[in-house]
Amino acid sequence: AKHHSLDPVEIAQVDKRHVLHPWSDLKTMHTEDPLVLAEAKGIHISDAEGNRYIDGIGGMWCVQVGYGREELIVTMAEQARRLCYYTPFGAMANVPAAQLAQALAERAPGDLNTVSFATSGSGAVDSAIRFAHFYFNCLDQPSKRQVIVRMDSYHGSTYLTASMNGKRRDWSQFNYARELVHFLPSVNAFRRPKGQSLEDFANEKVADLEAMILELGPENVACFVAEPIQASGGVIVPPEMYLPRCLEICRKYDVLYISDEVVTAFGRLGHIFASKDVFGITPDIITCAKGLTSGYIPMGATIYSDRLIKAISGENAVDHPYFTNGFTYSGHPVAAAVALKNLEILEGDGILEQVRDTGPYFQAELQKLRDLPIVGDVRGMGLMACVECVVRKIGAEPGEADMAVAARVDAHAQERGLILRPFESLCILSPPLIVTTKDIDRIVSILRD
Ligand code: PLP
Repeated sequence: AKHHSLDPVEIAQVDKRHVLHPWSDLKTMHTEDPLVLAEAKGIHISDAEGNRYIDGIGGMWCVQVGYGREELIVTMAEQARRLCYYTPFGAMANVPAAQLAQALAERAPGDLNTVSFATSGSGAVDSAIRFAHFYFNCLDQPSKRQVIVRMDSYHGSTYLTASMNGKRRDWSQFNYARELVHFLPSVNAFRRPKGQSLEDFANEKVADLEAMILELGPENVACFVAEPIQASGGVIVPPEMYLPRCLEICRKYDVLYISDEVVTAFGRLGHIFASKDVFGITPDIITCAKGLTSGYIPMGATIYSDRLIKAISGENAVDHPYFTNGFTYSGHPVAAAVALKNLEILEGDGILEQVRDTGPYFQAELQKLRDLPIVGDVRGMGLMACVECVVRKIGAEPGEADMAVAARVDAHAQERGLILRPFESLCILSPPLIVTTKDIDRIVSILRD
């Protein structure tokens, strides 16, 4: 094919000239050479010059079953041939989308049985917030609108979800929805005050949530949105019992609990959904995307509790009860068919069970890096992990010199055949779920180098 014969240097030039990448540094967008990727198989990706790398980040927390799975490719082609698309609006159904909604309902905890589809994680979270507002409007409580999130969270890049990200850099120069979105302090225990016990830290973080609800007034708070493990923020695993206790607080004040499982669902922690199976919570709404299709095609989903839907539908519905939310490509048949096949592979090939073995091995091997002076913290669960570097020995906040260190680690790792995800002082890892212990040994050995 023509594009395969193009010189990688030329592609890099074209890219630098014409593509505005997510989170581009506009200072260097026209000068910094991108890595031009050409193909991938299993856990490996290759650049256009033929160099091969272990994909330490599973594309971007999403390529669960690995690259080049023939079943997914065939499924995609067959569905496109049968019915490539039709409108999801109103009373129109397509076979894979209906079947996928049922499959997600069967696997989601509690009474979470109703699904709306989006084309991304951002879209899924955005839909969840809009639903929370819609729900309280229907119940004649229109003042319940405020949204509570946490520092170090990441929830997306739409107009609304961009305002829910808890990294200062992500706020950019904008202030889209600051009157609507409120930030609790980070639950990163590594940064807790010296001498504070983990238990006291957890108590304090739960109390923070209750205090914020009371300060805003429970009659004004619609929802609390939380990733079970804060992924992009640095794989921040919450203190034990923190999530169940947050859920209790939400119930106490009739605040909807939205569990953002865009990263943690579909096997990254060894289960299809982590909220209940790993953290013991049945939230009101779950959002997911990424691993839903193993990244073969874009798709997001929002799964709602029957309790919420029943309260505002059928005989309980208000006049003109249209939840005017959704997208041209909601429940896209090709994406839905891929998601169904992906579930079949995750469950049928024993990949979830495999992660329950390789996950603890991955974490234990990474912990051994703690003897390196540059390593400040190693944390994670399942197949998501973060090695936090410190250049100066650790202070309360990362120092100036720490800010670029992960990018340097990444550059050295790439020379040795591993791609990771650098952010300031954080080296983030989330390999495809099919990694073996041998692959993990190689990843850790490259990192140590
Ligand atoms: N929520 C979480 C927890 C995420 O990690 C992400 C993306 O990384 C999103 C939402 C947004 O998903 P997307 O980039 O597909 O819009």
